[in-house]
Amino acid sequence: MSAPVAPTLLPFTVDDYAARIARAGAAAADAGLAGLLVAPGPDLTWLTGYRPIAVLERLTLLVLTPDGPPTLIVPTLERPDAQAAPGAGAVTFRDWTDGTDPYEVAGSLLHPDGRYGISDSTWAMHLLGLQRVRPGTAYVSLTDGLPMLRGVKDGAELDRLAAAGAAADAAYAEILKVRFAGRRETDVAADLAGLLRRFGHEQVDFTVVGSGPNGANPHHEAGERVIEPGDAVVLDFGGLLAGYGSDTTRTVTVGEPGDPEVRTVHGIVREAQQAAFEAVRPGVPAQQVDRVARRVITEAGYGEFFIHRTGHGIGVTTHEPPYVVEGEVSPLVPGMCFSIEPGIYLPGRFGVRIEDIVTVTADGGRRFNNTSHDLGLVS
Ligand code: ZN
Ligand code: ZN
Ligand code: ZN
Repeated sequence: MSAPVAPTLLPFTVDDYAARIARAGAAAADAGLAGLLVAPGPDLTWLTGYRPIAVLERLTLLVLTPDGPPTLIVPTLERPDAQAAPGAGAVTFRDWTDGTDPYEVAGSLLHPDGRYGISDSTWAMHLLGLQRVRPGTAYVSLTDGLPMLRGVKDGAELDRLAAAGAAADAAYAEILKVRFAGRRETDVAADLAGLLRRFGHEQVDFTVVGSGPNGANPHHEAGERVIEPGDAVVLDFGGLLAGYGSDTTRTVTVGEPGDPEVRTVHGIVREAQQAAFEAVRPGVPAQQVDRVARRVITEAGYGEFFIHRTGHGIGVTTHEPPYVVEGEVSPLVPGMCFSIEPGIYLPGRFGVRIEDIVTVTADGGRRFNNTSHDLGLVS
């Protein structure tokens, strides 16, 4: 069968991580924060490449302040693992041994009355420990304080997102060849997961197979329903390749659609997706992309059935800022990456969604998913 589509991706360098750490520090200062505290999770992965095999109760915390070098606090017994991370050369290490208080180590790096950004994935027990040793400090989540910290991707990140998109597209081309009629949604979902892995994904995050009435629930995953001839089927799948996300949706029918409205609705969603894509350019507020998609669907008379936001950012996770939704006034910036995924969901009948990952370029947008927007045909 086809070979994996991922091109050779060069590993991130210490300089890449050092540049991100510098950017994060500058963004924190601009936001009036005394520094950033980052526990294991997507932000630590992005800043240092360190992903502990298991996140347990012992404190691991990256402390970024203007007063000293970037410092990664780790349990002594996990220090060798942390020092093997690709970005280890961009940070200074401080370790703590069992029986000592790690919060005293972290607290010694903090201003007694500083206000810090703290990663969303930091356990509450760690935040409470910091507040115990430094009761005058205050904290804001990174999603609230610095929502666009990871929002603008550099060239090496864009290469990974493009490779992930191409691999998801290859999986879609293959899934059109498998049998749908008479099989359960979970069977097709397992096929999709296998294809994502075959084309280079190291992690599968979701494989939505929403057949017939199940397609009307945008968050339906896959169930025991047996797919029937004439069904419309929403296929939405993605995961991580080389640490970066894919996420694409196409809607197919099993032979000729049983409901004649499927073709009409699909044509409207396709037009909305294209119009929203054409609205992408630097300086446009993210909500404008949502508004453009929504206007097409509303003017066609289906506005009340477009019950989901138009999109979400993607990077080292498959759902992150910027969100493409009413109220998100942040301007688009070249290098931002997000989904455009309008849909129409008719309860009890069927759903249609078309989703591509798009990046903002100097003068418009570029798609990382490039399979046909035609209504797919399966057997
Ligand atoms: Zn959703
Ligand atoms: Zn999706
Ligand atoms: Zn999505």
